[in-house]
Amino acid sequence: MPSSDTSHSPADALAATLARIDAARKTALAPAPETRLIAVSKTHAAENIRPVLEAGHRIYGENRVQEAKAKWPHLKTEFPGVELHLIGPLQSNKAREAIELFDVIHSLDRPKLAQALRTEIDRVGRAPACFVQVNTGEEPQKAGVVPQDAPAFIALCREELKLRVEGLMCIPPADEPPAPHFALLAKLARPEGLRYLSMGMSADFEIAIRFGATHVRVGTAIFGERE
Ligand SMILES: *Cc1c(COP(=O)(O)O)cnc(C)c1O
Repeated sequence: MPSSDTSHSPADALAATLARIDAARKTALAPAPETRLIAVSKTHAAENIRPVLEAGHRIYGENRVQEAKAKWPHLKTEFPGVELHLIGPLQSNKAREAIELFDVIHSLDRPKLAQALRTEIDRVGRAPACFVQVNTGEEPQKAGVVPQDAPAFIALCREELKLRVEGLMCIPPADEPPAPHFALLAKLARPEGLRYLSMGMSADFEIAIRFGATHVRVGTAIFGERE
């Protein structure tokens, strides 16, 4: 539904999305103990986010550090208890700003970034939880560590750099069924003892829940189409 359509109510869409998450969890054979909804507010102005905040939702996702910096400090003051997730690629030179603003970073995917996060966490004195992004489809243009490199990279982040690695994240290839990618992410997380799986977007979050998603990242279904 286009955001120019004035009949679109983000608060109603939030309630509908939460109900769909509940329903998917009830029919899943082995859902995660809990599935959290990250409302992806990227490209949407504060006025469009406010109704969702007013409806009580507190977990949001943004994909750009600069955009989040422009919108969120203000909204965070207005609505205490917001948990902000960075779901887009992060450049090493923005590590400090990301640490200052975000509670969870879903795009940890290379040693240079891991090192930059370590350095800036020590300087800033604030340590966001990190999810390692896995390029499950091994797409050359896509961010993320390839599956076969994931164990060594996770070990580097945890053991050497002492980052708070708590989960894995993936974005399946747009032109493939997502289920095998969700299954692969869950399989990679298990031997590592990682409890969080960030997977599933507007088009496929119900499928992700069947594979144990603990965090679904939903934008369009709540806020309408992006420009
Ligand atoms: C934009 C985005 C989403 C949300 O996508 P929708 O299809 O609008 O739900 C989820 N994850 C990531 C990484 C994104 O960039």
